Amino acid sequence: MIGEHDVLVVGAGCAGMRAAIAAFDAGADVAMISKLHPTRSHSGAAEGGINAALGNAAEDSPELHAYDTVKGSDYLGDQDAIELFTAEAPGDIIQLEHWGAFFTRREDGRLAQRPFGAAGSPRTVFAADITGHVLIQVLYEQVCKRDIKVYEEFFAWQIAVNDDRAQGVICWDLLNGGLKTVRGKTVVMATGGAGRQYRATTNAYACTGDGTAMALHAGLPLKDMEFMQFHPTTLFPSGILLTEGCRGEGAFLVNKDGERFMQRYAPNALELASRDVVSRSEQTEIDEGRGINGSVMLDMRHLGPDRIIERLPGSRELSMTFAGVDPIFEPVPVRPGAHYHMGGIETGNDGETELTGLYAAGECACVSVHGANRLGGNSLMETITFGRRSGTAAAEWALSHTTSDVPESLERDAERSLRELLDRESGERPWKIRDELGQSMLENFGVFRQEEKMLRQLEILADLRERYRSVYVEDKGQVFNSDLTQAIELGNMLDTALCMIEAGIWRKESRGAHARPHDYPTRDDANFMKHSITRWRGDGVELSTSPVRVTKYEPEERKY
Ligand SMILES: Cc1cc2nc3c(=O)[nH]c(=O)nc-3n(C[C@H](O)[C@H](O)[C@H](O)COP(=O)(O)OP(=O)(O)OC[C@H]3O[C@@H](n4cnc5c(N)ncnc54)[C@H](O)[C@@H]3O)c2cc1C
Repeated sequence: MIGEHDVLVVGAGCAGMRAAIAAFDAGADVAMISKLHPTRSHSGAAEGGINAALGNAAEDSPELHAYDTVKGSDYLGDQDAIELFTAEAPGDIIQLEHWGAFFTRREDGRLAQRPFGAAGSPRTVFAADITGHVLIQVLYEQVCKRDIKVYEEFFAWQIAVNDDRAQGVICWDLLNGGLKTVRGKTVVMATGGAGRQYRATTNAYACTGDGTAMALHAGLPLKDMEFMQFHPTTLFPSGILLTEGCRGEGAFLVNKDGERFMQRYAPNALELASRDVVSRSEQTEIDEGRGINGSVMLDMRHLGPDRIIERLPGSRELSMTFAGVDPIFEPVPVRPGAHYHMGGIETGNDGETELTGLYAAGECACVSVHGANRLGGNSLMETITFGRRSGTAAAEWALSHTTSDVPESLERDAERSLRELLDRESGERPWKIRDELGQSMLENFGVFRQEEKMLRQLEILADLRERYRSVYVEDKGQVFNSDLTQAIELGNMLDTALCMIEAGIWRKESRGAHARPHDYPTRDDANFMKHSITRWRGDGVELSTSPVRVTKYEPEERKY
């Protein structure tokens, strides 16, 4: 044991830092654990912006934001959570601005807001196209200003559950080596997404769904795991994201004939239809032979150099560096790539989970405000609003309970499993299994899904998980043993992928990001307007469901 705190936050992206700040301000002794330096968290890569109904660019309201979000979620989002989210978002933005977030402004001095996909009003607040970078710096300043301890470059491995309560986390110390236990009266998981399960993804190398897997292994329910969002504009071939802000500023999508093909798929919203709709349209163009080298083109030329340089400098730089194309002069090749996991650890509106003392927020959690499809700009906002709520709730619980305790037997068990892995003298190296996972998930559980392919993916996962049992960690060292942590990450990805496929096979309909045009082409509210719940049982997955919480938005056909 190396530390004991009231609230222990695992993850130092926007959700984790916002939770830590809120818990500290509620009077708790707080620490954060992060496998990366906080400002290197994936939140820092967010580009386009963050949604709140400020109404600065056109008339808007939290009700309209809620309606767009419910519709965008394909009626799978929990409406009470969504209403609370859209009502509290404006206050959270103002707080960030007061902390020093230098959002882009209008001529009249108010915060600028740009149009984003499937939004009924221009509602996305932004700092050029480096919004996440700005937020993560501002939040880190607030963390430094407070007395919040950061266990930096600590790799969280297991949630320590004792007396039916989460009471700490067992970690691998990346700098010095060795297992270390940090105790907390409450634990907030904020470990981000899992896009690295796919070969083509916008996600950073560290987005491996560790916290989701830790919760799964601790017996917690995961919700809506089948819903992985594919972002329509990822650079070919690297998969690096070009923000939706490009289309928000007016960029066109064209096929090899120069046709603005979105006119055929979403005649009103065009390029600004919701992400699931645009990704499917692109994939159809590519599959039917109207793409170029497996991609379509994002054309920004008509925006002119001034607007591109002022509003989209990061996107221009990425295009030039990673695709060798300057968008001022040429269209940029893009295709759909795995981007955001709508599913995650099931939580209530204060981040509480089924396990006493355990909370979750941000991309690893499923509250659910995004349902079957997240709207661009809603995720950063979710990390802030629900990060804050989780931190406050975790602090309140911790402050009304006195002790935390992690029995030595838990540490000894963890030590034994680690030894087993490290003492192995031969076996398969992790990278090949990781490559095969990424490639097969893309082929069999991508933009379009069908029974046959999902069953095939189950077989592939069974094979990969079997091979993983004898995975070989070559580096036996203590200092920065990334060979070891990558092997653990791979195990996490394989187990959460199994939950995704099982839930995908169960959902015999097309809803949001789960599109089955060949076998179940339409939404089936009578049988499937409910959440999938997956749990770990033995060495496999048990599936059940939970109801969608509806307040006032009745399901309608979704048109853009
Ligand atoms: C390229 C890109 C652009 C995006 N743009 C936007 C946008 O413009 N607007 C928007 O709303 N959304 C955007 N998103 C989505 C949004 O940025 C993310 O969903 C959100 O930032 C996730 O925040 P988080 O705090 O949950 O996780 P992250 O920021 O990913 O942080 C995860 C934290 O957990 C830690 N961690 C993970 N595993 C472990 C472990 N085992 N042990 C210890 N620590 C661990 C990491 O070190 C990190 O600190 C974008 C996403 C990407 C990938």
